[in-house]
Amino acid sequence: MPYRFSFDLSQISKAFFKELARVANEKRMHRKIGERARSLAERFRIRELTGLDVSDAIMLVEDLVDIYVRNLSQRKSFLETKKRALFLPHCARKYMDNRCQARFDPEIPSYQCAQCSPDCLVNQATALGRERGYDVYVLAGSSCIPKILKNHSYQGVVGVACSQELKVGGDYIGNNGLQGQAVPLTKNGCANTWFSIESLKRIL
Ligand code: SF4
Ligand code: SF4
Repeated sequence: MPYRFSFDLSQISKAFFKELARVANEKRMHRKIGERARSLAERFRIRELTGLDVSDAIMLVEDLVDIYVRNLSQRKSFLETKKRALFLPHCARKYMDNRCQARFDPEIPSYQCAQCSPDCLVNQATALGRERGYDVYVLAGSSCIPKILKNHSYQGVVGVACSQELKVGGDYIGNNGLQGQAVPLTKNGCANTWFSIESLKRIL
């Protein structure tokens, strides 16, 4: 389910994401997050740089911290997994219309990237995932996950999506005994979205 607001974190400094990781580690040590999220949002001028209102900016930061916390807590067991899948979001394709040559196979269910554009994020992430030995899926939404997992015996899953979808997908993956890692979108909106390929490299 998408947020009811759109965000674009491309103008936010890299220090914000480092700080997120630090705060996530603190939260893991059972400290309260509400005030920290508010102060992070203010310090890194999230409202000014994204146009979000206060409560949406804080919600976004809290969700990002939660994702980082989950990543940290599952990192060790994830690294021990052998058979892994990479789930990419269809909204990060370069084109959302028929210029995208990907075919959607409902039997899998996944888009199959036809590599029409070298500068397409989904194309680049698909190649990266395959190089690292992952089965790669380009999902139309988290509702595709149960069918894929039912048909394969994966142990580990890396998901790229907006924080809202990562929460839903992460819960499903956790409830089914799999180890997950996540890369949140830095720009949402369900089309022309963006994530950091460098972050994906580090997670894979
Ligand atoms: S590279 Fe793949 S995902 Fe990207 S627009 Fe082309 S076919 Fe679609
Ligand atoms: S932003 Fe992308 S991942 Fe999030 S709900 Fe929209 S289509 Fe799905």
